[in-house]
This record gives sequence, structure tokens and C-alpha cells, in this order.
Amino acid sequence: MPHVIQRLLAQPGSYVAGRWRSCDSTQPLLNPATGAELAQVPTSAAHWLEEALVAAVAAQRLWRCEPPAMRADRLRRLAAALREHSQALAELVTQEQGKPCVESLAEVHYSADYFEWFAGEAERLYGRQVPAPTAEQAFLVLRQPLGVVACITPWNFPMAMLARKMAAALAAGNAVIAKPAYETPLSAMALMRLAEKVDFPPGLVNLVVGQDAQAIGARLCADSRIAKVSFTGSTATGRCLLAQSAQTLQRTAMELGGNAPFVVFADADLDKAVAGFYAAKFRNAGQACISANRLLLHRAIATEFLARLRALMQQRRLGNGLDPTVTQGPLINRRACERIASLVSAAQAAGAQVESFGHWATDTGFRQENFYRPQWVLGVRPEMRIFQEEIFGPVVSVCEFEHDDQAIALANQTPFGLAAYVYTESASRLWRLPGQLQVGMLGLNEHRLSHANAPFGGVKASGFGREGGAEGLDDYLAPQYLAWGF
Ligand code: NAP
Repeated sequence: MPHVIQRLLAQPGSYVAGRWRSCDSTQPLLNPATGAELAQVPTSAAHWLEEALVAAVAAQRLWRCEPPAMRADRLRRLAAALREHSQALAELVTQEQGKPCVESLAEVHYSADYFEWFAGEAERLYGRQVPAPTAEQAFLVLRQPLGVVACITPWNFPMAMLARKMAAALAAGNAVIAKPAYETPLSAMALMRLAEKVDFPPGLVNLVVGQDAQAIGARLCADSRIAKVSFTGSTATGRCLLAQSAQTLQRTAMELGGNAPFVVFADADLDKAVAGFYAAKFRNAGQACISANRLLLHRAIATEFLARLRALMQQRRLGNGLDPTVTQGPLINRRACERIASLVSAAQAAGAQVESFGHWATDTGFRQENFYRPQWVLGVRPEMRIFQEEIFGPVVSVCEFEHDDQAIALANQTPFGLAAYVYTESASRLWRLPGQLQVGMLGLNEHRLSHANAPFGGVKASGFGREGGAEGLDDYLAPQYLAWGF
């Protein structure tokens, strides 16, 4: 394991003003697959917030004046460091979060992609000249950085969710104070170690680690030195942060929960559709915001689709994600398993049929209470909780439809609007559906939605703001209009 990661596990803590800080009180961080202690993590970060704010404000004043090429260079060096240590970082992600190592490796490279993409965007950070009404005037639109950005991130992609925010914020000339999920702080600490190693100036990126999320969030939202709160997490927490930031009128970005429909029409290419669904559903054991949450099948192909899906689900192999034969790790904790079990049993009590699949890898050193076997739930109806709520686990909920209008109505029939997937060979359907489905992202015969160069984000209760793409940089800039008279 490389030196940076060894050092991190030896002294995990907050990273503030370019220094690593511990606190008197710590808690063990456990591997969700095995229960092994990974590190002792500080319980509180409140103590460091003022220092982080002062340092970030000072660092941002200098960073914003650096030539974009220099900002880009630092971002590229961070991307290169991530790639250089990718295997060790992937093992770290797997140990704290649970996903199979091959998925963690993809997460590390995906994180590096964002730093590389936004390095390029920093170099293309153009303004605009607007035609003026007279020859004695010039109108210009500049794009200015916002200042200090607070980034609050979830546990399901503990490195990627922070990388997406940090890359765009820094490219645009901002400073960052990050708060990772308390269940998975080590990946964020590793990112900070690498930022330190590639010479990001002290105070430009800060990390506060503690279990006092509510206090940290309230403090960040109440401080007018924070120009923007960028949040990824549940819709409930997003609402709470929005209410708090109303006082300071900070800019906010809300990357919230999803409940993606996966719609398969009768004319779909079933090989493609089954493979696409399986990948979109089971990545990270279903703990992804764009996970295919509701499988909507045309009645004519439902039996055939489910027969093919059954064959894949039977092969799922549960265990420690460090074992290369494992395809499904644990869920993040026991509470997550209990919540999913309650959604499934409520559906069953209302008449749905449930079946379980998958099997254990041979190793027996697991915390079995953190694992959830893949299941499908047939005969789901829109009024059921399992249809309306985000499942966030390896459970397939299935509805059937007969007509296009029915499929569209079912797809839109929840408060969420993050992603949807549609499989059909009809060009006219593919052309019509984007206007009819209320989502921020739509896969058309395609399940791979998330890329550094494309805008990721939702509508309705899935929030607002975009990460990635040209739109992702805009979210960290404020237009400034200059009216120039000669
Ligand atoms: P969560 O409970 O909302 O937590 C997310 C982050 O917010 C964590 O860092 C958490 O800290 C912090 N937090 C919790 N309560 C807070 C409060 N009152 N004030 C300030 N911060 C607070 O969400 P989660 O369960 O970790 O993540 C799963 C959710 O994220 C799902 O709904 C998923 O769909 C969504 N998600 C969305 C996207 C997207 O791009 N749209 C991407 C990934 C995930 P602690 O961990 O310390 O409590």
C-alpha cells in the first residue's frame, strides 16, 4: 500500500488550513463486510470550522488570481496521483464502503476523469462580449468564481461524489470546505492527502470530519463567507439545508435522491435491455441514485425478460468486495437492510410476489446482518411504498404495462426526477419520449449515464444543479456584466 494511504490510516482526521487535525474523542470505523476496525475517526469537527473558513477565504483570494493554466496543472496532477495509486485507493473504498473492488477501481478512475475534464474547462473559461447599442460603449460578461464552497457528500460513492464537486469548484477559482459522510471519511481523506502531495496551497481544500453533521451543516449554511453549499444526499437532508441557507441566500446545488424507471417496450432489443437493466440495477448493490429502481415491462415481453434476468440474478455472489469473485458486497449498514426488508414485506402484504436469488462466496468472515440478497418483487402497484420510495438496494420492483401512455404515466408517477432508461427500437418513440419523461437524465437504449463531460443532475424532488459538462463549471461561477463607456 502506498505511503500516502498508510499515513492516512495511521492518523485519520480533519484537514484544515493545510494541517491534519485530530480530536480527543474518536470512534472506530468498521468495514461493513467484515466488521474489522479500519481506523479511529474523530467524532467532532465543529472545533475546526472557523479556522477552515478563515484559511479558505484567504487561499481563495490568491487562487482566483492564478492563471487558469496553473489551476489546470494542479488538477491534472491530482488526477495523475489518483491514477497512480488507483489500486490501493480502490481497496480503501471497498473496505470502508463495501462495493466490489473492480467497482471501486472504476470509481477512482471516474474521479480522476473529473479532475482532468475540469482542468480543460478551466482553460476554456471564456467570457462574452454583448453587442452594445452605441459605438461609445462596450458590454462584457465575465464569469467570476463564487468564493468558498461547502461540499457535503454521501457514503455511496465516497470518492467520486467529492471529486465531482471539488474538481469543478477549484477549476472555477473557488476554495472548498468538504464534509464527507461519517460512514466513509477515509476516501475523502485520501483525496486530501493527494491534494496535499501535489501542492494545492494550504487552506484551498479543507476537510471536516465528525459525526455532528447537523451542527456542521447549520454552521456552514449560516455563514455568509460560504458562497455556495453543494450537497449530494437524501431529499430530506437537502430540504433541511435549503431551509437553513435561506437566511444567507447562499447559492445551493442539490443532487438528491432518485427513483429511476427502466421502461422496456415490446419492440426492444431484449439482449441489450436485460444487460442494461442488470448493470443499472446492481451497481453498488443498488445503492446508486440513478439505480434502475422500477422495472416497467410491456406485457408482451415480460415473461421472456424475467426469465433472462433470473439467470443473471441467480449468479450473483455475495461477500467481501476484496474477493475478486464477489459481485455484490454488503449494504452500508444493518439499518439499510432493515429499511429495504420493510419495503419488501409491505409490498408482499399488499399482494406482491417476492423471490430471492444469489448465493454466498465461500469465505464466512462476514457481517451477515449487513448483506441483503438480490430479490425481485412482482405485481408492484403505484400506491405501494416500494414504488414511491427510493429502494437503494438490490431489489427489483416490477410493474407491467400495455400502452405507451400507461408507461409514461407510471414512469412520472413519483416525486423524483433524476434519471430514466428507455429501451425500444422505435425511432418515433425515442424522439417523443424525452419531452414526456420528467427527468434530468435519460438513457435511450443506454444504461451508462454518468460521464465527466455530461451534465449530471435532476428535476422535481431530485433537486437542481448539474455536475460535469460545461454546465458543471457554470454552477460554480457568477456572471458579472460590465457596461463600459468610452
Ligand atoms: P444523507 O443522509 O442525506 O447524507 C448525505 C450527507 O449529508 C452526509 O455527509 C451526512 O452526514 C450529511 N448530513 C446528514 N444530515 C445532515 C444535516 N442535517 N445537515 C448537514 N448535513 C447532513 O444521504 P445518504 O444516506 O448519505 O446518501 C444517500 C442518498 O444520496 C440517496 O438518496 C441517494 O439517491 C442520494 N444521492 C444522490 C446523488 C445525485 O447525484 N443526485 C448521488 C449520490 C447519492 P453524516 O453521514 O455524517 O450523517
